[in-house]
Amino acid sequence: MRILLAEDDPSIADGICASLRHSNHAVDHVANGQLADAALREHDYDLLVLDLGLPQLDGSDVLRRLRGRGGHAPVLVVTARDGLDERIRVLDLGADDFLVKPFALAEFEARVRALLRRRSSQGVPELRIGRLRLDLPGHRAWLGDEPLELTAREFGLLEALATRADRVTSRAQLIEALCSWDEELTDNGLDIAIHRLRRKLEGSGTGVRTIRGLGYLLEEIPASGGHA
Ligand code: CA
Repeated sequence: MRILLAEDDPSIADGICASLRHSNHAVDHVANGQLADAALREHDYDLLVLDLGLPQLDGSDVLRRLRGRGGHAPVLVVTARDGLDERIRVLDLGADDFLVKPFALAEFEARVRALLRRRSSQGVPELRIGRLRLDLPGHRAWLGDEPLELTAREFGLLEALATRADRVTSRAQLIEALCSWDEELTDNGLDIAIHRLRRKLEGSGTGVRTIRGLGYLLEEIPASGGHA
């Protein structure tokens, strides 16, 4: 999942980034409200973790603008501002959940899991392509009943392809899905990830087809036919 963290306190941001990356999420971090607003216009995020007390543009305004243009990403507000009125105000602006600083990282992680689960159950709870099954928020994959062991990058690749099943995914789209800003993925790195994913899917009846000049397609391979 791709997550935007808007937080100007470096020590809190470091802790949250480390925790989210440990759970195999791609995290973009911004430290002011203007950048958060710009990032939300530019990219589709699966979750926004939003501090309210941000320089340049308050977190409340970031949230108001996001909802104002119909952005549906779940929003977890983390703030030092406490009190019932504040909670109600923030939830009314369109936040999905609210955590008051200081908080335990374990609680933060549980709230994130809950929001991503909820998002997934509103959409596609489990993706199936042939014998391949994917639990997106849980980062798990199976071939039939056998768990499929994947690295974070391989899972991200499979997720990007599977959520666009029946459509060709370009190399640029794959790189965008796999990268956060401070983590580069080279063309070569993408080729290696695709090669490894193909090997793990070998014999499963589901494969990654190259569409020359356009990109890649995740699809069922007919049992009778040969495959590249
Ligand atoms: Ca702050």
